[in-house]
Amino acid sequence: MSVKAKKYLGQHFLKDENIALQIADSLTEKGYKNVLEIGPGMGVLTKYLLKKPYKTHVIEIDSESVEYLQVHYLNLANRIIEKDFLKIDLTEFFGNEQVAIIGNFPYNISTQIVFKTLENRAQIPEFSGMFQKEVAKRIAEKEGSKTYGILSVLTQAFYDVEYLFTVPPSVFNPPPKVDSGVIRLIRKKDYSLPVDEKLFYKVVKTAFQQRRKTLRNSLKTLNLSDSLREDSIFAKRPEQLSVQEFINLTSKIEKDVV
Ligand code: SAH
Repeated sequence: MSVKAKKYLGQHFLKDENIALQIADSLTEKGYKNVLEIGPGMGVLTKYLLKKPYKTHVIEIDSESVEYLQVHYLNLANRIIEKDFLKIDLTEFFGNEQVAIIGNFPYNISTQIVFKTLENRAQIPEFSGMFQKEVAKRIAEKEGSKTYGILSVLTQAFYDVEYLFTVPPSVFNPPPKVDSGVIRLIRKKDYSLPVDEKLFYKVVKTAFQQRRKTLRNSLKTLNLSDSLREDSIFAKRPEQLSVQEFINLTSKIEKDVV
């Protein structure tokens, strides 16, 4: 008996063992003892993770999949968390230990998974897995590109991102409508910001809300002084700014006195 794919849970089961193995091998395995797989489904990745030296845990929202895993992966037994990844507190399960994240992720919540990872970055040294190709590319994109945006800047502020490879729809059951892409995030040595984090998020989000406009126009709502707005950086559009330039910009805004 296998699990019947449910669309509302973003279930597309990978059927290519070779690709499953490549994803399982994408973590560097350095500096942590725990790995949490999000959305194991019927365990196509899990069985390779279980052969690794680290401790594999899985979190799965679908009770039918959980039942399947309990029957087929006896050695996983007490490390199956039947919950919504977006709603859990990682410290409840891992204390303050480091835990790497991996998965062939449910595409309907893929960007939320990334945002949750950024929030919990002090505990997550590494993250790899499969997204819709477009989302994977966006996370990895550098300035100067049309797809460079909020997700790229915020992720790259804390992690080094590498796009690993593309996966066609034909290797899934049922096949999704789009290509998929596998990426790896490795946390930077220094993953704290030299500026206020809330303000940094606000500057990045506000700037990209009107991505065709110059920062002088798009950041009007932040109520900045005229002298700051004459700074040459304000003549640029958000997609022209590197992550470091967004940090510098935030620092200037932080010091601004109106
Ligand atoms: N890794 C499996 C399944 C991928 S499909 C494979 O490659 O075949 C995505 C999986 O994520 C499904 O099993 C789905 O039930 C699970 N899922 C969906 N939303 C979830 C959530 N919020 N938290 C945990 N798991 C979730």
